[in-house]
Amino acid sequence: MSEKEFLSLEEVAEMLGVTYQLVYKLARSGEIPAVRLGKLYRVSRADLAEYLESKKRETQGGGTCSVCGEVYRSRQSLQHVCQEDGCNEAICNDCWTRRGVRKCIEHGGAVK
Ligand SMILES: [Zn+2]
Ligand SMILES: [Zn+2]
Repeated sequence: MSEKEFLSLEEVAEMLGVTYQLVYKLARSGEIPAVRLGKLYRVSRADLAEYLESKKRETQGGGTCSVCGEVYRSRQSLQHVCQEDGCNEAICNDCWTRRGVRKCIEHGGAVK
């Protein structure tokens, strides 16, 4: 039995226990890291695992801003993430909006 590397959105929906429509929306908005093959979206297993991990962190609530190091108790204050491909480091609203930071420190973002 060999596992497919890429999953269809239907398969992803089944795995997550959500509707296909929701997965499609998330894939289109880029929330779920999907690649487009022709007219169809495909999600790689590795990307999906990563997405689920970040979701898990999210539901735990709160976190640390990767830029200023501020600890927030609510995820509301950490809605942004590093714009580097594949990086999901959280960036707080303060850094994002007021300081214009778009990347985590590791990827060249810095508090100006
Ligand atoms: Zn910050
Ligand atoms: Zn980053």
